[in-house]
Amino acid sequence: MTGTYLFPPPPVISIPVEGQAARYPVRRIFCVGRNYAAHAEEMGHEVDREAPFYFTKSAHAICASGSEIAYPAGTEDCHYEMEFVVALGAPVDAGDPMASVMGYACGIDLTRRDLQAAAKDRRRPWDLGKDFENAAVMGMLTRAETFGGIGAQTIRLTMDGAVVQEAGLDQMVWSVPEILTHLAGFYTLGAGDLIYTGTPAGVGPVHPGAVLRGEIDGLEPVDLVIAPGFPKS
Ligand code: MN
Repeated sequence: MTGTYLFPPPPVISIPVEGQAARYPVRRIFCVGRNYAAHAEEMGHEVDREAPFYFTKSAHAICASGSEIAYPAGTEDCHYEMEFVVALGAPVDAGDPMASVMGYACGIDLTRRDLQAAAKDRRRPWDLGKDFENAAVMGMLTRAETFGGIGAQTIRLTMDGAVVQEAGLDQMVWSVPEILTHLAGFYTLGAGDLIYTGTPAGVGPVHPGAVLRGEIDGLEPVDLVIAPGFPKS
C-alpha cells in the first residue's frame, strides 16, 4: 500500500479473452466515424476521403456481452451500430502498425441518435449521444494470431432474429493499419486501448425487449438484450 484514497478506486474494466483465464484491461475507447460508405450515405453524408475522424467513449461505457440492460436514459431513439473492435497490446510502431494489435472482438456502439443529431445541428460535441453507461457493448476478445488477416469476413447484426446490418470487413473506407497509423499521430496509443472501427449501413433503433446478436466470421458473437419497458422519467 503506497497511498490511501478518499473512496475505493473504481474497479478495473476488463474484457474476457477466448481460451485464456487472464482478462484484457481496458484503458481508452476510440471510435471511427463514417467508415463504411453506405452508412455515411444513409446518415446524409459523404465519406471524407482526406482523413478518418473519431469520437471517444469512457472505459466505463463497456458493457459485457450477454447483458440485459435498461433502455438508455435521456433518449427516445437509441440506435445499434455493429462494429469490428481492435484491441491494442503494445504501442503503435509506424513501420508495422499491425504488430501492436493483440486481438479483435465484436462490438456494438449504442448511440442516442436524437441527442447526437441535436448536437450535430448545434455544432456541439457528441458526448451525450455516444458516451454513456453500457454504450460500448463488447464480446470476448480473440487473439490476432487466431483470427488471422483482416479480409472480407462478414460483419452482421440481427435484431429479434432478422438481419439488420450485413457487410464485409473489406468495405471499410479506412483499413485498420491506416486507422492505427493516423490515430497514433494524435495519441500515444498502447495496451488497453480499443478502437471501434465504424458501422456498416442498416443502423436503426432498438426497442424495449429487443434481442441483439452481432457476429463477425472468426470471432465470438456479441449478445445484448434491452429490458422491456422504458425507464421512468
Ligand atoms: Mn459507430
